[in-house]
Amino acid sequence: MADLNVITHDILIVGAGLAGTWAAMSAGENGVKDIGVLSKVHPLRSHSSAAQGGIAAALNNVRPVEGTGPRGPLEQIPPGDDPIDSPDLHMFDTIKGSDWLGDQGAIEIMVNEAPEIVYQYERMGCVFSRTPDGRIAQRRFGGHSVPRANYAADYTGHVLLHTIHEQAVRNGVKFYAEWYCLDLLVEDNVCRGVVALDITTGELYLIRAKAVFFGTGGYGRAWKITSNATANTGDGVAIAYNAGVPLMDMEFVQFHPTGVYGKGILMSEACRGEGGYLRNVNGDRFMENYAPDKMELAPRDLVSRSEQTEIEQGRGVGADGEGIYLDMTHLGAEKIMERLPQVRELALNFAGVDIIDAPAPIQPTAHYSMGGIPVNANGQVISDAEGTPVVGFYAAGECACISVHGANRLGTNSLLGASVFGRRSGKAMAAFVLSGAALQPVDEGAVKKNRQCISTLMDDSSINGKKESPAAIAEELKTAMTRYAGVFRDEERLTLACEKVQELTDRFKNARIMDKSRRFNTDLLGAIETEHLLTFSKVIVNSGLARTESRGAHYRTDYPKRDDEDWLKHTMAHKDSNGEPELSYKDVDIDWDRYPPQERKY
Ligand SMILES: Cc1cc2nc3c(=O)[nH]c(=O)nc-3n(C[C@H](O)[C@H](O)[C@H](O)COP(=O)(O)OP(=O)(O)OC[C@H]3O[C@@H](n4cnc5c(N)ncnc54)[C@H](O)[C@@H]3O)c2cc1C
Repeated sequence: MADLNVITHDILIVGAGLAGTWAAMSAGENGVKDIGVLSKVHPLRSHSSAAQGGIAAALNNVRPVEGTGPRGPLEQIPPGDDPIDSPDLHMFDTIKGSDWLGDQGAIEIMVNEAPEIVYQYERMGCVFSRTPDGRIAQRRFGGHSVPRANYAADYTGHVLLHTIHEQAVRNGVKFYAEWYCLDLLVEDNVCRGVVALDITTGELYLIRAKAVFFGTGGYGRAWKITSNATANTGDGVAIAYNAGVPLMDMEFVQFHPTGVYGKGILMSEACRGEGGYLRNVNGDRFMENYAPDKMELAPRDLVSRSEQTEIEQGRGVGADGEGIYLDMTHLGAEKIMERLPQVRELALNFAGVDIIDAPAPIQPTAHYSMGGIPVNANGQVISDAEGTPVVGFYAAGECACISVHGANRLGTNSLLGASVFGRRSGKAMAAFVLSGAALQPVDEGAVKKNRQCISTLMDDSSINGKKESPAAIAEELKTAMTRYAGVFRDEERLTLACEKVQELTDRFKNARIMDKSRRFNTDLLGAIETEHLLTFSKVIVNSGLARTESRGAHYRTDYPKRDDEDWLKHTMAHKDSNGEPELSYKDVDIDWDRYPPQERKY
């Protein structure tokens, strides 16, 4: 094709959050020089930079003051004293948090590499908060038995991403800011490159690479109330699925207990880690009735369900009774200004409340996607339950499912997982490229196909009054997902969700956009993203309908018990020839001697 724009790289990375940037950095450090990174937003606006609370690692820098209980103050551990934390304890907490769906081999790798990766950030210049003697400060987080969250006030993701981005730039990685990946080219189980759009010019490019990595982040934007950035539309998972790659455990979506009421913007779990209370309309700390030991620091799935129960039983707050109070007034202005300055600002701006003086209204918010593109612990994407690799295709971070988070992620384990497995993927890709991997032939018709899809979205001449607005379809989808695939689910609701997603998918065929221009066409991007939301939402609701048990974040009121006999397994969804998800299952990696399944109580 005469007008075909072609770019080649040894390694092409899609996504400039922590996972993508670590993969680029580490591939570079391991000897690959020609690395390109695409990001649809400016790299430093990736959602990783919105992370507030911390990154987990058993550093043993602080412990609770003896005799003060689970909410009391922390003190630093003098050098030489017995450690209170260990990678083993971190591993157990993570497995329990995952409701035994996490793969234990991968979890072990993550917790063992955690201290080293945090110190690597520190050596690169990351400005962590400190203990009085200068060590990295740690705070409590939900589901972790001891203080283990390493933090930089409540800007942790921001400082981690800036630190690693600087290093990638220093190592000569080429960033393509505001480039949008449209398609992944996989043939005969071998990945060959991607089709991408330069958002600033509207030009389409074929990008060929010996290895492609996806670090495209999460997909909370399929819900109305979400903590996720507008860019978190699950493009990577939808694109991979369309290219024939399966998706794993998509039914497991985490609802964070404290999004700003009516808006979803996150108020970090650090609020409760620092001692904040949850109260219902009567002022009661209702967690006493649901998790008497851990109280507000029970894991997120349990706290969100407890809040939703209070709300549904009429003890909620706010105009429609759909809220709960997060009360930090007893923490004092000094602690709030030192540890939670961003949260205070968010509450002032989005709830109109100063948390120093008054409780903030909050509600559960769609937050984290446990499922995604199945990979092994080196980031190699797999195409079936046997672990057959998709040659040359790698993924890590929130778009991937390793699975270290299983049915429910513990807070602070995600920045950790994105960093550890991003780094491991970079190393594995470098080994693959340096062992002689070659650029593979590509079907140039792929660019034509993508150009045709864009033309169709812009051409309303054939529609005759049946024109659909992508934005309206996205709105209806988000409402349906919130209503029917939220904190509580059952057969009736999930069936309605499946029907609604199908109806909207059919209607999307007539979706047309208003803006026909080339440069910065956000109308076009919005339409493509809506199609991605529909694609993976179909997998979420079908996988959820099939899983007739409750485990972690997937809670079925009609099957309220965990059912290990039938459901201790990962869901794998392939797109069949009719475009429908075909479900199969994969064993969970369990060390039966060390960590056999137990009842999950807090
Ligand atoms: C508000 C908030 C607070 C959080 N706090 C914490 C916390 O304290 N601790 C913790 O462990 N976890 C936290 N998390 C979760 C954690 O931040 C994320 O899971 C993690 O940062 C994801 O990193 P990532 O590299 O996978 O993706 P992201 O950082 O989301 O980056 C995705 C990248 O992919 C790019 N991309 C996506 N689609 C395309 C496309 N089609 N074409 C080109 N580029 C594309 C984007 O531009 C971006 O660069 C929080 C999440 C949120 C939303």
